Amino acid sequence: MTTFTDALPPFSRETAAEVGPPDLILRSSDSVDFHTHKTLLGFVSPVFQDMFGFPPPTQLKEGVDVRDAIPIVQLSEPSDALRKLLLLCYPQALTNESLDNLDGLYLAYGAADKYQIPNATTAILAAISSFIKDEPYRVHAIACHFGLPDLGKSAARQTLKDFFLPTDRKYGAPEFALVPASKLLRLHRFHVECGENAAKIVKGYTATLPYDEHATESELPWRVVRGHDANCGAFVDQDNVGSPVYSPAQWFQNHMGAVEEVVRYQPNGDAAAKAVLDYGETLRDISKCQLCSRDSARHLSVLSDNLREGVERSNDHTALVFTQLGFV
Ligand SMILES: [Zn+2]
Repeated sequence: MTTFTDALPPFSRETAAEVGPPDLILRSSDSVDFHTHKTLLGFVSPVFQDMFGFPPPTQLKEGVDVRDAIPIVQLSEPSDALRKLLLLCYPQALTNESLDNLDGLYLAYGAADKYQIPNATTAILAAISSFIKDEPYRVHAIACHFGLPDLGKSAARQTLKDFFLPTDRKYGAPEFALVPASKLLRLHRFHVECGENAAKIVKGYTATLPYDEHATESELPWRVVRGHDANCGAFVDQDNVGSPVYSPAQWFQNHMGAVEEVVRYQPNGDAAAKAVLDYGETLRDISKCQLCSRDSARHLSVLSDNLREGVERSNDHTALVFTQLGFV
């Protein structure tokens, strides 16, 4: 005996009748019956339209081929995906419910694509995109599965906001079964390269540079050689051929070392900018020197903004390279 249940409103037998007498039952893979209307489905989907053209079986079996004389079409989609899709086909029934959760959206997208319902495809894709911020890895997996490069790229960029595959999230999501490990490894490579490039930018700020004592000194306090309190200030040395070179104040080198660690693993402009302004230990060192405590905050604030832009620009460049390799 076939067991089946009725779908929730508006696709239960009673609520579907409010639109007009239902004349078709779509049965999901998990045996949930959606009471629908041929005219409306035929109108939104050429695939459904063709489906209705088949002559009914000669021996109609109650509960399998028909229910109370209404024909049943067995579909391969589970009920949660079918519900999301049908809500989009019945605009008067559309509620936030249909698209406010990423669960099953990829199945609904696959169904919309299969049944050729372009409006639903567009709406579901927009809904999937809205989860990029919270679920970038799941969205990236969906993008890989359906071959959607723009979505894949946006999701990949979002992964840069945090450590790669942060462990405090759930990774049992079904989307991960859709993609081969090679795609995840490529995403990891993108994350690593963005981190390496961001770290290089940070390193640049502490570079040892040629020194000319007659030139006007930099206004950056950590690059100023004279006028600091004891054990502070940029220091002059000689390079391996005896030419004078100078390095920024030790506190600045330590500080930027900490910033480098942050951007290497969270390579995004905001994290970089925040790390520059996160003085913590550095403040103790700065406060030992009058010159540095007077001028550093202002200049670090400018550096913070510049670094934010620099890291984002660098990520743009790395993303461009990976776009050519293929993000999905
Ligand atoms: Zn100083």
